[in-house]
Amino acid sequence: MDFRSDTVTQPTQAMRQAMANAPVGDDVYGDDPTVNELEAWAAERHGFEAALFTSSGTQANLLGLMAHCERGDEYLCGQQAHNYKYEAGGAAVLGSIQPQPLENNPDGTLDFDKLRAAIKPDDSHFARTKLLSLENTINGKVLPLSYMAEAREFCDHHKLGLHLDGARAYNAAVALNVDIKEIAQYFDSMTVCLSKGLAAPIGSLLMGSKEFIAKARRLRKMVGGGMRQAGILAAAGKLALTDQVNQLEIDHKNAKTLAVKLSQLPGFHVNPDFVQTNLVFAKLDSNIDIHTIAEKLRSDGILISPGNPVRFATHKDISENDINHLVEKLKNHLS
Ligand SMILES: *Cc1c(COP(=O)(O)O)cnc(C)c1O
Repeated sequence: MDFRSDTVTQPTQAMRQAMANAPVGDDVYGDDPTVNELEAWAAERHGFEAALFTSSGTQANLLGLMAHCERGDEYLCGQQAHNYKYEAGGAAVLGSIQPQPLENNPDGTLDFDKLRAAIKPDDSHFARTKLLSLENTINGKVLPLSYMAEAREFCDHHKLGLHLDGARAYNAAVALNVDIKEIAQYFDSMTVCLSKGLAAPIGSLLMGSKEFIAKARRLRKMVGGGMRQAGILAAAGKLALTDQVNQLEIDHKNAKTLAVKLSQLPGFHVNPDFVQTNLVFAKLDSNIDIHTIAEKLRSDGILISPGNPVRFATHKDISENDINHLVEKLKNHLS
């Protein structure tokens, strides 16, 4: 039982079948029919002109930022943004793009007054502010549609591009009970991870205009992301978006159940009302040695990421029974 992340999900039997049977070709020549089909289908499905299959969400974000921004440009983002904090500084290192991070509000949003104040005037002292990058979901929290609509207006007013790190955008769509297009409509570009709760083994998508994706395709080759018979992976990626989306609703329900049970443990502080998707964060009293507990759980066959707050992810390979089992074991190790 692996509660560390939704990236640990195993591909489904249907995915393995589709991978075995996928027609493939050299995708760098544009010859892989399964990749071409996924890219065309995904563009249409999310309401963009074009899509690009990438090896990871990190790569999709990097290509997105580099396609929006030139050397010496900057993007506005949250301090907690994955494409600022958790991608090894790729935009700065490889793109010579300056990040301008701002503190996220507790609900994951960025304050528009602070964003406005961070936009640099056209002056040779400053980097050129080009882009706002949002993330939905962010740390398991859902940005509401009204906020995204306001972000669109803000970017139009200030002539900025608007990018969405939508690694878990389907979790947001399921939590908001809307079609993914309702989220996608506000953005110039967006990414989607196929390999998290949606269970594909590898792969993400970057979507945007035809011109934008053509630029990103060249950049993908530059960073070594041009893959050959990638249809083997794209076949599983298509099933992630067609067959696995409904699973997210179960994952969210399981996360709520887990949050309620954790909130009853001594020294664990969780408000189940704040759990919107598949990630549960529990603040721990300082007397709890979560590293030792994680070691004990490991010998019970349960994996968690120790930390404070400690994060648990639910996903298709975690059942309600697994949650009961985890909580029972936690109770034992706490007493
Ligand atoms: C996981 C994640 C990514 C990166 O995806 P990888 O495929 O792990 O590189 C980007 N953004 C967010 C919000 C993520 O959760």
